[in-house]
Amino acid sequence: MQVVLIANTLLALLAILLLRFGQRAAERWFGAMSDLLAFCDGDVGGAGCRDFALGLLRDAGVDFRVVADPWRTGGLCDFARRQVVLSWWPEARTALALFEAAHEAGHAVLGPGLFGARRRLVMLAAGGAFLGCLTAGIAGAGWLALAVSCLWFGLVEGDWLRGELRTTRFAREKLLALFGGELPAVAARRVRMDGPWKGLAAAGKLLLFAAMCWFFLGFGGLIRGVAMGAAKAFPFPL
Ligand SMILES: [Zn+2]
Repeated sequence: MQVVLIANTLLALLAILLLRFGQRAAERWFGAMSDLLAFCDGDVGGAGCRDFALGLLRDAGVDFRVVADPWRTGGLCDFARRQVVLSWWPEARTALALFEAAHEAGHAVLGPGLFGARRRLVMLAAGGAFLGCLTAGIAGAGWLALAVSCLWFGLVEGDWLRGELRTTRFAREKLLALFGGELPAVAARRVRMDGPWKGLAAAGKLLLFAAMCWFFLGFGGLIRGVAMGAAKAFPFPL
């Protein structure tokens, strides 16, 4: 049980690290390559990705600002400040810059989803789930608490993934329109890798959350074991 738990936690951490930094590294590398090889010559109706995003927002009647911040890693749609942040120079017209512009504008157009606008509530509920698992461990009610917690977080991640896939579909449509019905190879590759990549990211986060819930459950069980004078309950008595 112990070994499984540790392996589970390590795997989840590894998944998060890989997904978090691997994607950035891949995008940067990909971006550098596309700068050299596939400078996209679609008519973006202005100087670059920033104007492209602005145009998409204007077409949809959405009043968001677009900020270009090339020192960032990755784009962002900030619903609270009503702004889209791009991680490229505003003039960039590479496949990745245009994809990011269309994707983040897509978030603004399609809306934040069920949980996207309620990050604080989600964090609070995640804290509640950990506390619930700890309490359940102390009370000796194990798997139910774990199942409920994972179901809850599965809903949050599912909602996030659904939003990402919808947004990338939006971006694909806009890029297709920009390039007259056929995407440059590097843009097509970027669009294709988005779904599987984000599916993996959601699975990795879910795994990490499950591992943490399991840990709290086991820790509750340990407290229960010690309180009942049964040290043999250690460790992680499930
Ligand atoms: Zn997104």
